[in-house]
Amino acid sequence: MSALSPIQNRDISYHLHPYTNAVKHAQVGPRVIERGQGIYVYDDQGREYIEGMSGLWSVAVGFNEPRLVRAAADQMGKLPFYHTFSHKTHTPSVELAEKLVQLTKGRMRSAFFTNSGSEANDTVIKMVWYYNNALGRTNKKKIIARNKGYHGVTVASASLTGLAPNHRGFDLPLAQMKHVSCPHWYREGQPGETEEAFATRMAAELETLILEEGPDTVAAFIGEPVMGAGGVIVPPATYWDKIQAVCRKYDVLVVADEVITGFGRLGTMFGSQKFGIEPDIMVLSKQITSSYLPLAAVLLGDKVHSVIARYSGELGTFGHGYTASGHPVATAVALENIRIIEERGLVENAARMGEVLQSSLRALNDHPLVGEVRGTGLIAAVELVADKNTRRPFDPLGKMGAAIFEKAHEHGLIVRGIQDSIAFCPPLIIDEQQVHDMVGRYVDTLEDVRSLAD
Ligand code: PMP
Repeated sequence: MSALSPIQNRDISYHLHPYTNAVKHAQVGPRVIERGQGIYVYDDQGREYIEGMSGLWSVAVGFNEPRLVRAAADQMGKLPFYHTFSHKTHTPSVELAEKLVQLTKGRMRSAFFTNSGSEANDTVIKMVWYYNNALGRTNKKKIIARNKGYHGVTVASASLTGLAPNHRGFDLPLAQMKHVSCPHWYREGQPGETEEAFATRMAAELETLILEEGPDTVAAFIGEPVMGAGGVIVPPATYWDKIQAVCRKYDVLVVADEVITGFGRLGTMFGSQKFGIEPDIMVLSKQITSSYLPLAAVLLGDKVHSVIARYSGELGTFGHGYTASGHPVATAVALENIRIIEERGLVENAARMGEVLQSSLRALNDHPLVGEVRGTGLIAAVELVADKNTRRPFDPLGKMGAAIFEKAHEHGLIVRGIQDSIAFCPPLIIDEQQVHDMVGRYVDTLEDVRSLAD
Protein backbone atom coordinates (compact mmCIF):
# COMPACT_ATOMS: atom_id res chain seq x y z
CA MET A 1 0.00 0.00 0.00
CA SER A 2 1.12 3.59 -0.57
CA ALA A 3 1.54 6.22 2.17
CA LEU A 4 -0.99 5.74 4.92
CA SER A 5 -3.92 8.15 5.29
CA PRO A 6 -4.83 9.94 8.55
CA ILE A 7 -7.67 7.49 9.27
CA GLN A 8 -5.32 4.54 8.72
CA ASN A 9 -2.73 6.07 11.06
CA ARG A 10 -5.33 6.75 13.75
CA ASP A 11 -6.53 3.17 13.42
CA ILE A 12 -2.97 1.91 13.94
CA SER A 13 -2.57 4.21 16.97
CA TYR A 14 -5.77 3.42 18.82
CA HIS A 15 -7.45 0.29 17.57
CA LEU A 16 -6.49 -3.26 18.53
CA HIS A 17 -8.13 -5.50 15.93
CA PRO A 18 -9.69 -8.93 16.27
CA TYR A 19 -8.06 -11.74 14.28
CA THR A 20 -5.24 -9.50 13.10
CA ASN A 21 -1.47 -9.62 13.44
CA ALA A 22 -0.89 -6.34 15.29
CA VAL A 23 2.76 -6.08 14.23
CA LYS A 24 1.96 -6.47 10.54
CA HIS A 25 -1.05 -4.18 10.92
CA ALA A 26 1.17 -1.34 12.12
CA GLN A 27 3.20 -1.73 8.92
CA VAL A 28 0.53 -2.21 6.27
CA GLY A 29 -2.42 -0.41 7.87
CA PRO A 30 -6.10 -1.23 7.41
CA ARG A 31 -8.25 -1.19 4.31
CA VAL A 32 -11.02 1.30 5.10
CA ILE A 33 -14.41 0.02 3.95
CA GLU A 34 -16.84 2.88 3.59
CA ARG A 35 -20.09 1.72 2.10
CA GLY A 36 -21.90 -1.23 0.62
CA GLN A 37 -24.41 -1.95 -2.11
CA GLY A 38 -25.89 -5.35 -2.91
CA ILE A 39 -23.06 -7.90 -3.00
CA TYR A 40 -20.43 -5.12 -3.26
CA VAL A 41 -18.49 -3.03 -0.73
CA TYR A 42 -16.41 0.05 -1.51
CA ASP A 43 -13.26 1.33 0.17
CA ASP A 44 -12.37 4.96 0.84
CA GLN A 45 -10.40 5.05 -2.42
CA GLY A 46 -13.64 4.27 -4.28
CA ARG A 47 -12.53 0.73 -5.18
CA GLU A 48 -15.29 -1.84 -5.59
CA TYR A 49 -15.10 -5.38 -4.23
CA ILE A 50 -17.43 -8.34 -4.60
CA GLU A 51 -17.88 -9.38 -0.96
CA GLY A 52 -17.38 -13.09 -1.63
CA MET A 53 -17.64 -13.82 2.11
CA SER A 54 -20.78 -11.79 2.95
CA GLY A 55 -18.59 -9.96 5.46
CA LEU A 56 -18.14 -12.74 7.99
CA TRP A 57 -20.47 -15.36 6.40
CA SER A 58 -23.31 -13.14 7.44
CA VAL A 59 -24.93 -10.56 5.15
CA ALA A 60 -27.76 -12.52 3.49
CA VAL A 61 -29.74 -9.64 1.96
CA GLY A 62 -26.85 -7.51 0.73
CA PHE A 63 -25.16 -4.41 2.07
CA ASN A 64 -27.81 -1.70 1.65
CA GLU A 65 -31.24 -3.11 2.37
CA PRO A 66 -33.48 -0.09 3.11
CA ARG A 67 -36.18 -2.18 4.77
CA LEU A 68 -33.76 -3.18 7.52
CA VAL A 69 -32.76 0.45 8.01
CA ARG A 70 -36.45 1.41 8.32
CA ALA A 71 -37.22 -1.46 10.69
CA ALA A 72 -34.38 -0.33 12.95
CA ALA A 73 -35.35 3.35 12.78
CA ASP A 74 -39.03 2.61 13.48
CA GLN A 75 -38.21 0.50 16.51
CA MET A 76 -35.63 3.05 17.71
CA GLY A 77 -38.36 5.68 17.58
CA LYS A 78 -40.80 3.53 19.52
CA LEU A 79 -38.76 1.66 22.13
CA PRO A 80 -34.99 1.84 21.57
CA PHE A 81 -34.22 -0.39 24.51
CA TYR A 82 -35.92 -2.51 27.00
CA HIS A 83 -34.82 -5.71 28.67
CA THR A 84 -36.48 -9.11 28.99
CA PHE A 85 -35.49 -9.92 32.60
CA SER A 86 -37.90 -10.56 35.46
CA HIS A 87 -41.19 -11.00 33.59
CA LYS A 88 -40.80 -8.10 31.12
CA THR A 89 -41.08 -8.45 27.38
CA HIS A 90 -41.71 -6.50 24.17
CA THR A 91 -43.41 -7.40 20.93
CA PRO A 92 -40.36 -7.83 18.61
CA SER A 93 -38.68 -10.38 20.91
CA VAL A 94 -41.93 -12.35 21.31
CA GLU A 95 -42.61 -12.31 17.58
CA LEU A 96 -39.08 -13.41 16.75
CA ALA A 97 -39.09 -16.26 19.29
CA GLU A 98 -42.40 -17.45 17.85
CA LYS A 99 -41.17 -17.10 14.26
CA LEU A 100 -37.96 -19.05 14.92
CA VAL A 101 -39.86 -21.91 16.55
CA GLN A 102 -42.28 -21.94 13.59
CA LEU A 103 -39.38 -22.04 11.12
CA THR A 104 -38.17 -25.25 12.78
CA LYS A 105 -41.67 -26.65 12.11
CA GLY A 106 -42.20 -27.04 15.82
CA ARG A 107 -39.15 -29.22 16.36
CA MET A 108 -37.78 -26.60 18.77
CA ARG A 109 -39.87 -25.26 21.62
CA SER A 110 -38.37 -21.92 22.73
CA ALA A 111 -35.74 -19.28 21.98
CA PHE A 112 -33.22 -17.61 24.30
CA PHE A 113 -31.48 -14.52 22.92
CA THR A 114 -27.87 -13.37 23.15
CA ASN A 115 -25.75 -10.84 21.25
CA SER A 116 -23.23 -13.11 19.55
CA GLY A 117 -22.60 -16.67 18.52
CA SER A 118 -19.92 -17.00 21.20
CA GLU A 119 -22.31 -15.94 23.93
CA ALA A 120 -24.92 -18.28 22.49
CA ASN A 121 -22.54 -21.23 22.73
CA ASP A 122 -21.51 -20.27 26.27
CA THR A 123 -25.23 -20.20 27.01
CA VAL A 124 -25.59 -23.67 25.52
CA ILE A 125 -22.84 -25.01 27.77
CA LYS A 126 -24.44 -23.48 30.86
CA MET A 127 -27.86 -24.79 29.84
CA VAL A 128 -26.49 -28.28 29.32
CA TRP A 129 -24.88 -28.21 32.77
CA TYR A 130 -28.02 -26.77 34.36
CA TYR A 131 -30.12 -29.43 32.62
CA ASN A 132 -28.00 -32.27 33.98
CA ASN A 133 -27.91 -30.74 37.46
CA ALA A 134 -31.69 -30.53 37.34
CA LEU A 135 -31.78 -34.25 36.50
CA GLY A 136 -29.36 -35.04 39.35
CA ARG A 137 -26.68 -36.17 36.88
CA THR A 138 -24.03 -33.94 38.36
CA ASN A 139 -21.12 -35.70 36.66
CA LYS A 140 -22.59 -35.54 33.15
CA LYS A 141 -20.86 -32.31 32.06
CA LYS A 142 -18.29 -32.95 29.31
CA ILE A 143 -18.97 -31.62 25.87
CA ILE A 144 -17.50 -33.12 22.72
CA ALA A 145 -16.68 -30.94 19.72
CA ARG A 146 -14.53 -31.53 16.62
CA ASN A 147 -11.06 -30.53 15.51
CA LYS A 148 -11.46 -27.55 13.15
CA GLY A 149 -14.95 -26.84 14.50
CA TYR A 150 -15.64 -23.19 15.23
CA HIS A 151 -17.95 -22.17 18.05
CA GLY A 152 -16.64 -18.80 19.21
CA VAL A 153 -13.99 -17.12 21.32
CA THR A 154 -15.36 -16.58 24.82
CA VAL A 155 -13.66 -18.76 27.43
CA ALA A 156 -16.04 -21.70 27.15
CA SER A 157 -16.98 -21.42 23.46
CA ALA A 158 -13.30 -21.03 22.48
CA SER A 159 -12.71 -24.29 24.33
CA LEU A 160 -15.23 -25.94 22.01
CA THR A 161 -13.55 -24.42 18.97
CA GLY A 162 -11.02 -26.90 17.63
CA LEU A 163 -8.47 -24.50 16.14
CA ALA A 164 -5.01 -23.92 17.61
CA PRO A 165 -4.94 -20.09 17.32
CA ASN A 166 -8.00 -19.89 19.58
CA HIS A 167 -6.23 -21.84 22.33
CA ARG A 168 -2.59 -20.83 21.92
CA GLY A 169 -1.59 -18.11 24.37
CA PHE A 170 -4.97 -18.21 26.14
CA ASP A 171 -4.56 -21.20 28.49
CA LEU A 172 -7.40 -23.01 26.72
CA PRO A 173 -9.25 -25.31 26.20
CA LEU A 174 -11.03 -25.92 29.51
CA ALA A 175 -10.72 -29.52 30.68
CA GLN A 176 -14.43 -30.41 30.24
CA MET A 177 -14.31 -29.85 26.48
CA LYS A 178 -13.08 -32.77 24.35
CA HIS A 179 -12.43 -33.05 20.63
CA VAL A 180 -12.81 -35.77 18.02
CA SER A 181 -11.52 -35.79 14.44
CA CYS A 182 -12.68 -33.43 11.74
CA PRO A 183 -14.91 -35.26 9.21
CA HIS A 184 -12.82 -34.21 6.22
CA TRP A 185 -12.48 -37.26 4.02
CA TYR A 186 -10.01 -35.66 1.58
CA ARG A 187 -7.53 -34.97 4.39
CA GLU A 188 -8.43 -37.47 7.12
CA GLY A 189 -9.57 -40.46 5.05
CA GLN A 190 -7.19 -43.43 4.89
CA PRO A 191 -5.91 -44.74 1.54
CA GLY A 192 -8.67 -46.72 -0.14
CA GLU A 193 -11.27 -45.82 2.50
CA THR A 194 -14.70 -44.94 1.08
CA GLU A 195 -16.57 -41.90 2.40
CA GLU A 196 -19.09 -44.27 3.94
CA ALA A 197 -16.39 -46.26 5.75
CA PHE A 198 -14.80 -42.99 6.85
CA ALA A 199 -18.12 -41.81 8.34
CA THR A 200 -18.42 -45.14 10.19
CA ARG A 201 -14.91 -44.69 11.57
CA MET A 202 -15.69 -41.12 12.70
CA ALA A 203 -18.77 -42.35 14.61
CA ALA A 204 -16.74 -45.21 16.13
CA GLU A 205 -14.14 -42.70 17.29
CA LEU A 206 -16.88 -40.71 19.02
CA GLU A 207 -18.22 -43.86 20.68
CA THR A 208 -14.74 -44.85 21.87
CA LEU A 209 -14.19 -41.43 23.41
CA ILE A 210 -17.57 -41.53 25.17
CA LEU A 211 -16.76 -44.98 26.57
CA GLU A 212 -13.25 -43.94 27.65
CA GLU A 213 -14.53 -40.83 29.39
CA GLY A 214 -17.53 -42.69 30.79
CA PRO A 215 -21.03 -42.11 29.33
CA ASP A 216 -22.23 -40.74 32.66
CA THR A 217 -19.71 -37.87 32.26
CA VAL A 218 -20.53 -36.87 28.65
CA ALA A 219 -23.38 -34.38 28.28
CA ALA A 220 -23.43 -33.14 24.69
CA PHE A 221 -21.96 -33.25 21.21
CA ILE A 222 -21.76 -30.00 19.24
CA GLY A 223 -21.11 -29.53 15.55
CA GLU A 224 -21.75 -27.25 12.61
CA PRO A 225 -23.78 -29.12 9.93
CA VAL A 226 -21.09 -27.93 7.50
CA MET A 227 -17.93 -26.55 9.12
CA GLY A 228 -17.27 -22.95 8.17
CA ALA A 229 -14.24 -21.23 9.66
CA GLY A 230 -12.33 -24.52 9.88
CA GLY A 231 -12.22 -24.64 6.07
CA VAL A 232 -15.76 -25.24 4.71
CA ILE A 233 -15.85 -28.95 5.38
CA VAL A 234 -18.87 -30.91 4.17
CA PRO A 235 -19.11 -34.23 6.00
CA PRO A 236 -19.88 -37.51 4.19
CA ALA A 237 -23.61 -37.99 3.50
CA THR A 238 -24.19 -40.51 6.31
CA TYR A 239 -21.91 -38.87 8.89
CA TRP A 240 -24.63 -37.08 10.85
CA ASP A 241 -26.91 -40.15 10.99
CA LYS A 242 -24.12 -42.24 12.42
CA ILE A 243 -23.01 -39.56 14.90
CA GLN A 244 -26.57 -39.02 16.12
CA ALA A 245 -27.09 -42.75 16.65
CA VAL A 246 -24.06 -42.81 18.98
CA CYS A 247 -25.29 -39.71 20.85
CA ARG A 248 -28.76 -41.19 21.37
CA LYS A 249 -27.27 -44.47 22.59
CA TYR A 250 -25.46 -42.72 25.44
CA ASP A 251 -28.05 -40.02 26.18
CA VAL A 252 -25.74 -37.31 24.84
CA LEU A 253 -27.52 -34.14 23.65
CA VAL A 254 -27.03 -33.12 20.02
CA VAL A 255 -26.29 -29.42 19.48
CA ALA A 256 -26.37 -28.02 15.94
CA ASP A 257 -24.34 -24.83 15.67
CA GLU A 258 -26.15 -23.19 12.73
CA VAL A 259 -24.52 -19.78 13.15
CA ILE A 260 -23.36 -19.95 9.50
CA THR A 261 -25.73 -22.55 8.05
CA GLY A 262 -28.97 -21.02 9.36
CA PHE A 263 -31.34 -19.01 7.15
CA GLY A 264 -30.68 -20.53 3.77
CA ARG A 265 -26.91 -20.76 3.36
CA LEU A 266 -27.03 -24.40 2.20
CA GLY A 267 -30.15 -23.93 0.09
CA THR A 268 -32.42 -25.13 2.93
CA MET A 269 -33.70 -22.90 5.74
CA PHE A 270 -31.43 -24.73 8.20
CA GLY A 271 -28.42 -26.96 7.64
CA SER A 272 -30.01 -29.54 9.94
CA GLN A 273 -32.72 -30.17 7.34
CA LYS A 274 -30.14 -30.90 4.68
CA PHE A 275 -28.29 -33.48 6.78
CA GLY A 276 -31.23 -34.99 8.70
CA ILE A 277 -30.00 -33.62 12.01
CA GLU A 278 -32.59 -33.63 14.79
CA PRO A 279 -30.94 -31.35 17.31
CA ASP A 280 -31.89 -31.00 20.96
CA ILE A 281 -30.44 -27.48 20.83
CA MET A 282 -29.84 -25.18 17.84
CA VAL A 283 -27.69 -22.06 17.71
CA LEU A 284 -28.44 -19.23 15.26
CA SER A 285 -26.78 -15.88 14.56
CA LYS A 286 -25.17 -13.92 11.69
CA GLN A 287 -27.79 -14.20 8.88
CA ILE A 288 -30.55 -13.85 11.50
CA THR A 289 -30.21 -10.06 11.08
CA SER A 290 -27.89 -10.20 8.05
CA SER A 291 -25.50 -8.97 10.79
CA TYR A 292 -26.91 -5.43 10.52
CA LEU A 293 -27.17 -5.65 14.31
CA PRO A 294 -25.65 -8.15 16.75
CA LEU A 295 -28.03 -10.97 17.68
CA ALA A 296 -27.98 -14.70 18.31
CA ALA A 297 -30.53 -17.24 19.48
CA VAL A 298 -30.36 -20.56 21.29
CA LEU A 299 -33.35 -22.72 20.35
CA LEU A 300 -34.32 -25.47 22.77
CA GLY A 301 -36.29 -28.60 22.05
CA ASP A 302 -38.96 -29.52 24.57
CA LYS A 303 -36.74 -32.14 26.23
CA VAL A 304 -34.27 -29.49 27.44
CA HIS A 305 -36.70 -26.58 27.70
CA SER A 306 -39.09 -28.31 30.08
CA VAL A 307 -36.31 -29.38 32.45
CA ILE A 308 -34.71 -25.92 32.51
CA ALA A 309 -38.07 -24.24 33.04
CA ARG A 310 -38.92 -26.48 35.98
CA TYR A 311 -35.48 -26.18 37.60
CA SER A 312 -35.56 -22.35 37.39
CA GLY A 313 -38.71 -22.60 39.49
CA GLU A 314 -36.93 -24.73 42.07
CA LEU A 315 -33.85 -22.49 42.22
CA GLY A 316 -35.85 -19.26 42.22
CA THR A 317 -34.67 -17.92 38.86
CA PHE A 318 -32.77 -18.89 35.71
CA GLY A 319 -29.64 -16.96 36.71
CA HIS A 320 -28.42 -16.24 33.21
CA GLY A 321 -29.06 -13.47 30.68
CA TYR A 322 -27.58 -10.41 29.03
CA THR A 323 -28.60 -6.76 29.26
CA ALA A 324 -29.39 -6.90 25.56
CA SER A 325 -30.99 -10.39 25.47
CA GLY A 326 -33.75 -10.01 22.87
CA HIS A 327 -32.86 -6.35 22.24
CA PRO A 328 -35.95 -4.76 20.64
CA VAL A 329 -34.12 -3.13 17.73
CA ALA A 330 -32.08 -6.24 16.91
CA THR A 331 -35.13 -8.52 17.09
CA ALA A 332 -37.20 -6.10 14.98
CA VAL A 333 -34.46 -6.10 12.34
CA ALA A 334 -34.26 -9.91 12.47
CA LEU A 335 -38.01 -10.20 11.85
CA GLU A 336 -37.84 -7.90 8.83
CA ASN A 337 -34.74 -9.69 7.56
CA ILE A 338 -36.48 -13.08 7.77
CA ARG A 339 -39.54 -11.59 6.03
CA ILE A 340 -37.27 -10.48 3.17
CA ILE A 341 -35.60 -13.90 2.98
CA GLU A 342 -39.05 -15.51 2.69
CA GLU A 343 -40.70 -12.96 0.37
CA ARG A 344 -37.80 -12.89 -2.07
CA GLY A 345 -37.27 -16.65 -2.02
CA LEU A 346 -33.64 -16.25 -0.97
CA VAL A 347 -33.38 -19.82 0.33
CA GLU A 348 -34.45 -21.07 -3.12
CA ASN A 349 -32.08 -18.58 -4.75
CA ALA A 350 -29.25 -19.93 -2.59
CA ALA A 351 -30.09 -23.45 -3.80
CA ARG A 352 -30.13 -22.36 -7.46
CA MET A 353 -27.09 -20.08 -7.29
CA GLY A 354 -25.38 -22.69 -5.16
CA GLU A 355 -25.53 -25.10 -8.07
CA VAL A 356 -24.00 -22.49 -10.35
CA LEU A 357 -21.25 -21.74 -7.82
CA GLN A 358 -20.46 -25.38 -7.10
CA SER A 359 -20.34 -26.35 -10.77
CA SER A 360 -18.24 -23.37 -11.85
CA LEU A 361 -15.75 -24.02 -9.04
CA ARG A 362 -15.67 -27.74 -9.82
CA ALA A 363 -14.74 -26.80 -13.39
CA LEU A 364 -11.39 -25.80 -11.82
CA ASN A 365 -10.74 -29.37 -10.70
CA ASP A 366 -8.21 -29.93 -13.50
CA HIS A 367 -6.17 -26.89 -12.53
CA PRO A 368 -2.69 -28.00 -11.44
CA LEU A 369 -2.92 -26.17 -8.10
CA VAL A 370 -6.43 -27.30 -7.17
CA GLY A 371 -6.50 -30.26 -4.76
CA GLU A 372 -10.17 -30.29 -3.75
CA VAL A 373 -13.26 -28.23 -4.48
CA ARG A 374 -15.89 -28.65 -1.76
CA GLY A 375 -19.09 -27.05 -0.64
CA THR A 376 -22.85 -27.15 -0.89
CA GLY A 377 -25.36 -24.38 -1.52
CA LEU A 378 -23.76 -20.94 -1.37
CA ILE A 379 -20.71 -21.94 0.65
CA ALA A 380 -17.60 -23.43 -0.88
CA ALA A 381 -13.84 -23.76 -0.66
CA VAL A 382 -11.09 -24.52 -3.11
CA GLU A 383 -8.09 -26.19 -1.48
CA LEU A 384 -4.81 -25.48 -3.24
CA VAL A 385 -1.97 -27.98 -2.99
CA ALA A 386 1.70 -28.14 -3.94
CA ASP A 387 1.26 -31.62 -5.45
CA LYS A 388 -2.10 -32.65 -6.81
CA ASN A 389 -1.34 -36.37 -6.91
CA THR A 390 0.02 -36.76 -3.40
CA ARG A 391 -2.15 -33.94 -1.93
CA ARG A 392 1.04 -32.48 -0.46
CA PRO A 393 0.30 -29.06 1.05
CA PHE A 394 2.38 -25.96 0.50
CA ASP A 395 5.37 -25.22 2.67
CA PRO A 396 4.86 -23.12 4.66
CA LEU A 397 1.22 -24.08 5.00
CA GLY A 398 -1.01 -21.12 4.18
CA LYS A 399 1.36 -19.23 1.91
CA MET A 400 -0.93 -19.55 -1.12
CA GLY A 401 -4.05 -18.76 0.88
CA ALA A 402 -2.47 -15.58 2.21
CA ALA A 403 -1.21 -14.58 -1.24
CA ILE A 404 -4.62 -15.10 -2.85
CA PHE A 405 -6.46 -13.28 -0.08
CA GLU A 406 -4.19 -10.26 -0.62
CA LYS A 407 -4.00 -10.34 -4.40
CA ALA A 408 -7.75 -10.85 -4.86
CA HIS A 409 -8.31 -7.28 -3.67
CA GLU A 410 -6.57 -6.06 -6.83
CA HIS A 411 -9.18 -7.97 -8.83
CA GLY A 412 -12.01 -6.46 -6.81
CA LEU A 413 -12.72 -9.57 -4.78
CA ILE A 414 -12.85 -10.32 -1.07
CA VAL A 415 -12.42 -13.99 -0.16
CA ARG A 416 -10.95 -15.76 2.85
CA GLY A 417 -7.80 -17.86 2.93
CA ILE A 418 -8.10 -20.68 5.47
CA GLN A 419 -4.62 -22.09 5.34
CA ASP A 420 -4.48 -22.83 1.59
CA SER A 421 -8.23 -23.24 1.13
CA ILE A 422 -9.99 -20.27 -0.40
CA ALA A 423 -13.51 -19.83 0.99
CA PHE A 424 -16.57 -18.40 -0.78
CA CYS A 425 -19.79 -17.48 0.98
CA PRO A 426 -21.49 -14.68 -1.00
CA PRO A 427 -24.74 -12.90 -0.03
CA LEU A 428 -27.86 -14.96 -0.73
CA ILE A 429 -29.10 -12.29 -3.16
CA ILE A 430 -26.31 -13.02 -5.66
CA ASP A 431 -27.41 -13.62 -9.27
CA GLU A 432 -25.97 -15.93 -11.91
CA GLN A 433 -23.91 -13.34 -13.74
CA GLN A 434 -22.42 -12.19 -10.41
CA VAL A 435 -21.48 -15.76 -9.47
CA HIS A 436 -19.59 -16.07 -12.77
CA ASP A 437 -17.98 -12.67 -12.22
CA MET A 438 -16.85 -13.69 -8.72
CA VAL A 439 -15.38 -16.99 -9.92
CA GLY A 440 -13.74 -15.18 -12.87
CA ARG A 441 -12.03 -12.74 -10.51
CA TYR A 442 -10.81 -15.69 -8.47
CA VAL A 443 -9.39 -17.45 -11.55
CA ASP A 444 -7.56 -14.24 -12.54
CA THR A 445 -6.09 -14.06 -9.03
CA LEU A 446 -5.01 -17.69 -9.23
CA GLU A 447 -3.09 -16.96 -12.44
CA ASP A 448 -1.33 -14.03 -10.75
CA VAL A 449 -0.03 -16.10 -7.85
CA ARG A 450 0.82 -19.22 -9.84
CA SER A 451 4.52 -18.45 -9.85
CA LEU A 452 4.54 -18.67 -6.05
CA ALA A 453 3.71 -22.35 -6.28
CA ASP A 454 7.22 -23.28 -7.41
N1 PMP B 1 -20.38 -20.57 15.70
C1 PMP B 1 -20.07 -20.58 14.41
C2 PMP B 1 -20.41 -21.78 13.58
C3 PMP B 1 -19.45 -19.46 13.84
O1 PMP B 1 -19.12 -19.48 12.55
C4 PMP B 1 -19.17 -18.34 14.64
C5 PMP B 1 -18.53 -17.08 14.07
N2 PMP B 1 -17.82 -17.21 12.91
C6 PMP B 1 -19.49 -18.40 16.00
C7 PMP B 1 -20.12 -19.53 16.49
C8 PMP B 1 -19.18 -17.27 16.92
O2 PMP B 1 -19.98 -16.17 16.66
P1 PMP B 1 -19.54 -14.70 17.11
O3 PMP B 1 -18.35 -14.31 16.30
O4 PMP B 1 -20.77 -13.90 16.83
O5 PMP B 1 -19.24 -14.76 18.57
